[in-house]
Amino acid sequence: MTGRYDAVVIGAGHNGLVAALTLAEAGYRVLVAEAADQPGGALRSAELTQPGYVHDVFATNLNLFLGSAFYASHAGALEHHGFTVAASARPYASAFPDGTALGVTTDRDETLAELEAASPRDAAGWRELDALFERLSPVLFRAYAARAPSWELARAGLEAFKSARTSGMVTLGRLLLSSSRELVDEYLETDKAKALIAPWGLHLDFGPDVAGGAVFPFLEAFADQHGGMAVAKGGASTLVRALVGMLQEHGGELRTSTRVTRVVVRDGRAVGVELDTGERVSADRAVVAGVTPTALAGELLGQADLPGPIRRALSGYRYGPGTMMLHMSLSAPVPWAAGERLASFAYVHLAPYVDDLARAYADALAGRLPAEPLLVVGQTSAVDPTRAPDGGHTLWVQVRPLPATPPTRRRGGWADAAPRYAERVMQKLERYAPGIGEIVTGMAVLSPADLEREDANLVGGDSVSGSMHLRQNFLLRPAWGMSGYRTPVRDLWMIGAATWPGGGLNAVSGYQAAQHILRRRRRAW
Ligand SMILES: Cc1cc2nc3c(=O)[nH]c(=O)nc-3n(C[C@H](O)[C@H](O)[C@H](O)COP(=O)(O)OP(=O)(O)OC[C@H]3O[C@@H](n4cnc5c(N)ncnc54)[C@H](O)[C@@H]3O)c2cc1C
Repeated sequence: MTGRYDAVVIGAGHNGLVAALTLAEAGYRVLVAEAADQPGGALRSAELTQPGYVHDVFATNLNLFLGSAFYASHAGALEHHGFTVAASARPYASAFPDGTALGVTTDRDETLAELEAASPRDAAGWRELDALFERLSPVLFRAYAARAPSWELARAGLEAFKSARTSGMVTLGRLLLSSSRELVDEYLETDKAKALIAPWGLHLDFGPDVAGGAVFPFLEAFADQHGGMAVAKGGASTLVRALVGMLQEHGGELRTSTRVTRVVVRDGRAVGVELDTGERVSADRAVVAGVTPTALAGELLGQADLPGPIRRALSGYRYGPGTMMLHMSLSAPVPWAAGERLASFAYVHLAPYVDDLARAYADALAGRLPAEPLLVVGQTSAVDPTRAPDGGHTLWVQVRPLPATPPTRRRGGWADAAPRYAERVMQKLERYAPGIGEIVTGMAVLSPADLEREDANLVGGDSVSGSMHLRQNFLLRPAWGMSGYRTPVRDLWMIGAATWPGGGLNAVSGYQAAQHILRRRRRAW
């Protein structure tokens, strides 16, 4: 082997960087090998459309990261390395075909007044959901941040049981098993109010009728109401640069444009990796793989390295539908039919209603391009005006959910279908914001295939690297026996969006796995 480290981390997504930094802080000699020509994975920003316009290429909303244990212990150092946040008190809204909109702000009374004007029952239901959030979210967020299984998770469950008693546990159980449609139908009356919560489900692969799909939209909708929405001031890459700077300060090494092609296993133990340059690098204490289960089982490990049942589970791991991104620079704020106030919200959902989400989800699963996809419109420069020159704006439109491969009579796949589908997306946007086409000064379109090309973990354009349905969530993510980041190969660990607690900038798996590696090593000494 030509290079010698204590730990090699595969992939410089935020989880890989967090794991590497945590190990480097403890004195490990760490190498991070990243296939792309820059670190960050699905977290980065670039001037995609025009000079001076900074776009978050993939993820934007940093709320999960800012709520993480890693951030709590590293906030000062991250700021020292140039990372600061810009926050919006107007996190999200939904717009409707009749030229109206509903918005959720951190001023609960303002949100309730808007709901009350249309339906007192919606306002009452929203109050009940908010009370439920206040009661259940401490337990749910604590469980979310714990390793699964772990004593911390067991303690969270026990304390939840003690404080909530049986009736509370029944409410929690029903919430965990409900679909987003069941949740909104139970509490809200009008289609418009329901359309404030249900679209969040399709940020993952929770079509409105998927069991277990209510929790994420519920938590996101009310956490945003309580805390607003935060983005990285100056672009997502400021966070990546800060993480890399801290890693290097602790002696860690990052190699970009370096793909790991194999984990070297000797006597059932991971001892290093092979790189696409042909070089072999040794890892004396740990290999930490921030890759997908299919890549781990299919390419990185040999047939004999994994027991049959685990290999089968990893190879059969399923991915959710894809996402397409339209990035735009604008010469004016979005001319919303619902009025200029809407241009001040961080996210605007256009589905418009729950039934439209259901149809779009069914289309994507059947391999069709939805006629009315969910458009998530991100008005990032409204949250962080430094993203564009004076008078200019940056905008992205996430188009969800889409099939991994488009049905096309020609053979060009997404390269062929994306430009025409982007036109259809712009036509839909034009119905809600007449005249938007005239203020677009630059555009970049990223199809689901482009997403995967940029980050191999976004398989088929799945933005969270694997379906979050119950069959591969919690203790089953990515497979039974591996949710605690251990693999059947000694000293080989798996982290990232395909492990518990799943996709999102939560920094959980990287931080938890690294701490677990350090604890185990300390015990071994
Ligand atoms: C369009 C989009 C929008 C999103 N919006 C949000 C949002 O607003 N908020 C939020 O919280 N989350 C969002 N997400 C989800 C979130 O970005 C991801 O879940 C998260 O970034 C995953 O981080 P990670 O560290 O686990 O892996 P990734 O960021 O996927 O990084 C994995 C890295 O590993 C590298 N890699 C893979 N295989 C190899 C190999 N063999 N050798 C070397 N390197 C390898 C890849 O190149 C990549 O850099 C979004 C995702 C997308 C795609």
